[in-house]
Amino acid sequence: MSRIWVLGAGQLGQMLVHAGMPLDLQVCPVDIESQDTLPLQPHEQVTAEREQWPDTPATRQLASHPGFVNLGTFPTLADRFSQKSLIDKLGLATAPWRLVEDEMDAAELHQALGERVLLKRRSGGYDGRGQHWLKAAEQSAVPEGWHDHCIAEQAINFDEEVSLVGMRGDDGRCFFYPLTLNLHVNGILLASVAPLARLSPLQAEAEQMLGKLMDSLDYVGVMAMECFRVGDHLLINELAPRVHNSGHWTQAGANVSQFESHLRAVAGLPLVAPAVKNTCFMVNLVGVERDNAWLSVPGAELYWYGKEVRPGRKVGHINFCLGTAAEIKQALAQLDPLLPDNYGEVLAWIGNELA
Ligand code: ATP
Ligand code: MG
Ligand code: MG
Repeated sequence: MSRIWVLGAGQLGQMLVHAGMPLDLQVCPVDIESQDTLPLQPHEQVTAEREQWPDTPATRQLASHPGFVNLGTFPTLADRFSQKSLIDKLGLATAPWRLVEDEMDAAELHQALGERVLLKRRSGGYDGRGQHWLKAAEQSAVPEGWHDHCIAEQAINFDEEVSLVGMRGDDGRCFFYPLTLNLHVNGILLASVAPLARLSPLQAEAEQMLGKLMDSLDYVGVMAMECFRVGDHLLINELAPRVHNSGHWTQAGANVSQFESHLRAVAGLPLVAPAVKNTCFMVNLVGVERDNAWLSVPGAELYWYGKEVRPGRKVGHINFCLGTAAEIKQALAQLDPLLPDNYGEVLAWIGNELA
């Protein structure tokens, strides 16, 4: 049996463990605060479920292991400044941006980027945390301590948000899942839908973009690219060098999930173009108490992360992979009364796309 270590022990690490089981891959997530001496063997691989990490005894052991796949990619993508610089260097479309240097004020940023500018912390942000809107009309200012630590992006009036999850093997071959349509509310992903026939005209462009990025990094494994669709084109929002929340539906709808694909790539096992069944959607459970009644909804596949429930925290997700619009409609109708009121619009959004 081969062993793969995972830097980080959150839900993504747990889902990698789950995906490794049928292949007899022993996947070992490591809590970054662990004080243990890890029994790392020279032939084993290391991967990560997060883009960045503090320097701790655990991360030091993992990051100094020669089998850490893509180690060099993490610093490039974990800092929005180097990530956006890479996207520009490759000539790929992205929201216009600037590094917010010392002394730069809001007026200068508005002049360069327009009336509405989104400041994003260079590192550490997720689920919309670490972001701050500057609105010329409100004369808002760059927050104290953000200079040099954030980039500024032009507000994009996008039609919708999509993402592409792809994979690259150590032979350089790439494969991709179909584009996923995503609903973010207040910066946090609440639902995903895939595949959608109406997005297929964008698939080739998206694959070309992510393929170019993965090639440039000599990347091995699964990478996700979040995009804004503006008319017939895509602008890259951000990249994640790991399995991604918008690819969770692949657990229900693809012959090989994003988690297994990542493990296969890291372990040097064959990769394949995923075969996707039916129509899939995923509902993220954010700040919601567990309700076992969800399990009675036909088609529901629950992943509950076992974390303490807090407002705004992702604590689980429910996947569906269904064959007909009628089944989808029924599942949404049964789920609706079992979720808090704010999910009404989320389920309606899914129904509007699929049912
Ligand atoms: P994640 O949890 O996906 O890692 P994050 O905190 O890293 O999120 P982003 O993905 O950069 O943040 O932004 C979160 C959301 O904010 C986006 O999905 C989008 O809805 C909105 N957003 C981000 N950048 C822009 C922009 N330039 N213009 C308009 N909306 C934006
Ligand atoms: Mg992010
Ligand atoms: Mg994002």
